[in-house]
Amino acid sequence: MRAIAAALLLLIAGTATAQPGAADFHLSGQAIQGGALTGTAPSGTVMLLLDDKPVSVDADGRFLIAFDRDAPPTARLSARMPDGRTLDQSLTVAPRDWRIERINAPMRPTKSTEAFLALRKPELEAIAAARTTVTDAQGWRQRFVWPRMGRISGLFGAQRIYQGTPGAYHGGVDVAAATGEPVVAPADGVVILAASDKPFTLEGHLLMIDHGHGLNSAFLHLSRIDVKVGDHVAQGQRIGAVGATGRATGPHLHWGMKWNDARIDPLLIAGPMPAER
Ligand SMILES: [Zn+2]
Repeated sequence: MRAIAAALLLLIAGTATAQPGAADFHLSGQAIQGGALTGTAPSGTVMLLLDDKPVSVDADGRFLIAFDRDAPPTARLSARMPDGRTLDQSLTVAPRDWRIERINAPMRPTKSTEAFLALRKPELEAIAAARTTVTDAQGWRQRFVWPRMGRISGLFGAQRIYQGTPGAYHGGVDVAAATGEPVVAPADGVVILAASDKPFTLEGHLLMIDHGHGLNSAFLHLSRIDVKVGDHVAQGQRIGAVGATGRATGPHLHWGMKWNDARIDPLLIAGPMPAER
């Protein structure tokens, strides 16, 4: 009897030292720059952290994490247990090969007149405020669809370097489309910003939707917006129409996504663009 108990104790101890709780995390998806993955936290998790920043966990243990375009090659998930223990899971974040274009010309001076800055400040404040809105949206659990089908005319993460000086990278994915073509919600969500009356200087008629757990979408340059702040939208529901408002060279849909502070690639969230019929 004592021998069995000792053996059992050894077995438990052995398992614990070999893999300290790593097997208790269930992750689906790949850790990759600009990508997201969902998972289930070890049962009993009191608090979940990704690199020491809190991650929302639902009552069923489900969570979502994502990685910025410039995320470092490793990350660590830590689950705090009721007894004070911490279960760690280290992640290897796969690098991406971003489209970099080197331009042998100086960077165009940015339009930063006092008049522009006066207009821009409240817009940036509205965008920042919208991103802090916490909603009960559950879209983060869904398989995302494309808000607009069409040829991809601009990739997330693409960047121009002007005589050694990097310009800002492209923060979303562009879909070529004609003005007036419908835009639908890529997943369930709650409208957190709708610049319906007055277009923003750069984004034009901007629409932002929260999908819950820190995940949100921004749709830029719309010709019209069909929803208002606070509306719950369902995946596939029409939310607006393609346009060229704000700073746009022609009509297209720019779709940007963020998870907390991380800028992520909608192409990885929605998957490859389906072939048009
Ligand atoms: Zn764009």
